[in-house]
Amino acid sequence: MTVNLLDFDLESLAVYCERLGEKRFRAVQLFRWIHQKGVQKFEDMSDLAKSFREKLGGLACIKAMPVVSQHISIDGTIKWLFDVGDGNVIETVFIPEDDRGTLCVSSQAGCAVGCRFCSTGHQGFSRNLTSGEIVAQLWYAEHFLRNYLHRDERVISNVVMMGMGEPLQNYSELVPALKVMLDDHGYGLSRRRVTVSTSGIVPMMDRLSQDCPVALAVSLHAPNDALRDQLVPLNLKYPLSQLIAACHRYLAFAPRDFITFEYCMLDGVNDTDACAQQLIQRIKAHPGAWCKFNLIPFNPFPASGLLCSKPDRVQSFARILNDAGIITTVRKTRGDDIDAACGQLAGDVKDRTRVADRMARQRTIHIHPVVSEDSTHKRSLQ
Ligand code: SF4
Repeated sequence: MTVNLLDFDLESLAVYCERLGEKRFRAVQLFRWIHQKGVQKFEDMSDLAKSFREKLGGLACIKAMPVVSQHISIDGTIKWLFDVGDGNVIETVFIPEDDRGTLCVSSQAGCAVGCRFCSTGHQGFSRNLTSGEIVAQLWYAEHFLRNYLHRDERVISNVVMMGMGEPLQNYSELVPALKVMLDDHGYGLSRRRVTVSTSGIVPMMDRLSQDCPVALAVSLHAPNDALRDQLVPLNLKYPLSQLIAACHRYLAFAPRDFITFEYCMLDGVNDTDACAQQLIQRIKAHPGAWCKFNLIPFNPFPASGLLCSKPDRVQSFARILNDAGIITTVRKTRGDDIDAACGQLAGDVKDRTRVADRMARQRTIHIHPVVSEDSTHKRSLQ
């Protein structure tokens, strides 16, 4: 069977080279050809011995998943759909800005967490991506963009694991992929320019802090457990007090970092002044400037039964947090015309978990009066 070299981080590529009777340092050369130069044909790898190139030609390949479609927005955002087999399609989005180029990468085909406001969550879950499939999104996008933009140097400066899927539910494939992104012989991204976004899988946050402490974003979306249980069902397992404690443990291993809290603005659900005040109470219970907020205007889709907060409400909410000394930004909507904005990544997956059925049955969100703590809220795993 042909081996796809995108599946290997540098260490496993070194082991593979040794198995082929080559010195370990050959792996560094090969790794650079693949990731830094985007070369796909072994015969073009001019500093490798001819015999090694011929060996590789018979045994290995460098191949991303087939591209199902590519859409380019008027604002320069590009969305790719990749076919990951068995009827599953995943999405990857490039977002250009003046000072950076960010790639939003998927980690799973679908997602089992089932957040109410997320179009991927409504698709259900099919399978985890392999580390090669995670890396292939970056490999393909980087080298496509260099050609497309006629650039010799790196185009993608930041990676956010915020596409389809909950990255920490695919931990064993995620970490080797992150290592390829950080490797100086690979993409050489600094750990602050690679962000893992999680809905709050507490034990895996602890593991990531030990194994690969990249920047961490947490999908918060609610100031109390009663509401968060309904918006992010994982909260039933890892409630806010545990989640915030895990954020602080994480920061102990990611010096000079902060946690970014993602907060999707939902009209009449989580966007009141009282919600903002409750967030402030929670954040200020811990000293220092340890987090910032990113408010995300919700992109409505019919199955959600939710609406986006009005623009002036979003601004007021941001002002309340900023006035309390919590750095808060409002995410600019990008790639709207190609459905590439945050929360619109739907792809197309075979739901093997019936998350989609369960969500279809739970249309109503109960807005609890804002209480100062969660002690009165009866917790249950449904
Ligand atoms: S927001 Fe993230 S964790 Fe929640 S359903 Fe969507 S992809 Fe999954």
